[in-house]
Amino acid sequence: MSGEEEKIYISYNCVHKHCQKAAEEILTTIGKPDVIVAIGGGGFIPSRIIRTFLKQQGEKNIPIQAIGLSLYEDMGTGSDTIGKEVIRTQWLDFGALAQHFDSLIGKNILIVDEVDDTRTTLHYALTELYQDIKENAEKLGKNMGDTKLSIFVVNNKLKPKRAELNKELMNGGIYISGEDVDDKWIAYPWESDDIDTHTKHAIAQGNN
Ligand code: 5GP
Repeated sequence: MSGEEEKIYISYNCVHKHCQKAAEEILTTIGKPDVIVAIGGGGFIPSRIIRTFLKQQGEKNIPIQAIGLSLYEDMGTGSDTIGKEVIRTQWLDFGALAQHFDSLIGKNILIVDEVDDTRTTLHYALTELYQDIKENAEKLGKNMGDTKLSIFVVNNKLKPKRAELNKELMNGGIYISGEDVDDKWIAYPWESDDIDTHTKHAIAQGNN
């Protein structure tokens, strides 16, 4: 097998269908999210697609808030395993949110990314979002109320994870992956410089 064949190719169609299916599940379980938090850049396109299927006729579009997270290898831990550190490159503007969107307190929040690999990024996003909303609520003399945090990823890799998601923080929120896949590199269409060949590979693998 060549290196190219070892990758899992996912087409735009495939992403679209996973988003549609996940939206149906979300609507019948936790209900329509009030806000989508897109982890950039891989979470941007799935966020926009899932919004289409979460929107009910005649209702307003669900706002999408972008956050940017980068994973860095942390070589300075002195431990056997090399740690991974997450850096915020872009975060929520709670001031603007409060002004235009009545804050995130008590909201049904959907975090979206393209892939759950080691789970480090999702763990960070969930923990930090929860913490910031809580601090914001305390400042306003409120509690977390019914704030729910859910997660949608297009793909979850079946492998041992480096972090676990704290269900208590999710407060009844759900975790959904479009499809669980083997632990291989996934090629997404938005990274491709030859979308026709990419799509052919995806179709051949049944990922269309
Ligand atoms: P994690 O924190 O779960 O280890 O990694 C999450 C991030 O690593 C993803 O948001 C993505 O940017 C990148 N990543 C991990 N595995 C893959 C993969 O197979 N394909 C692509 N395109 N990105 C990946």
